Amino acid sequence: MRTPIIAGNWKLNKTISEAVESVAALRTLVADVNEVEIVVAPTFTALFAVAQVLENGNIRLSAQDVFWEDRGAFTGEVSPAMLKDAGCDYVIIGHSERRQYFSETNESVNRKAKAAHAHGLKPIICVGEQLEDREAGRTEAVIRDHVINGIAELSADQILSTVIAYEPVWAIGTGKTATADEAQEVHTFIRSLLAETYSDEVASQVRIQYGGSVKPDNAAELMAQPDVDGALVGGASLEAESFAQIVKAACR
Ligand code: PEP
Repeated sequence: MRTPIIAGNWKLNKTISEAVESVAALRTLVADVNEVEIVVAPTFTALFAVAQVLENGNIRLSAQDVFWEDRGAFTGEVSPAMLKDAGCDYVIIGHSERRQYFSETNESVNRKAKAAHAHGLKPIICVGEQLEDREAGRTEAVIRDHVINGIAELSADQILSTVIAYEPVWAIGTGKTATADEAQEVHTFIRSLLAETYSDEVASQVRIQYGGSVKPDNAAELMAQPDVDGALVGGASLEAESFAQIVKAACR
């Protein structure tokens, strides 16, 4: 059985003190949850302080991006080892906002995913089609491109500790959610790509999250789908109360 994973992507929000306050409240609200993996992704500057609040608890820490080099003349970048050092277990890679505003490509996603694994960080690799792709019937072609190129050369062991987040771009921050059936259809397709690349057995163990306007009132229906193994949550993760409700909706 796949353990559901609910991750909160805080994007460019919260100062260090706001992040600490929010995660302390969340820790209390989800203290009794043990059947769901809970992850929060604050900004780089808040990671270390948040890690202190999360110590010995049931919430894992993620960064929102990483660079693939270990060190050197790469101004502004942060390495996988630095994220581990700050207390991260996960890193989000290839979020659509990074693809859209910061020239992230499948190739850079793949380099980052490989570097993350090399340092024991688990990547959450985001994939998803734009509205015009969906309307033109290109959803599967885009997803194939993002998945196959994003995970290229990852070993079976590495893919088992990778999370794929299916995030239709038209559903991110728009209030429009994919229906549970639409999400399930793409998740099944992603799992078939993993089976093609590895094996049915490996594919059946990889967790695939849905992301795109997940809220407390639609989370349970999405997560009731057999191939939806949790959620990557933006807006609704900023309030500890609403994020905790989404976490609880994933408790089966
Ligand atoms: C996201 O940023 O990954 C996301 C899904 O955002 P939202 O939940 O706000 O749509």
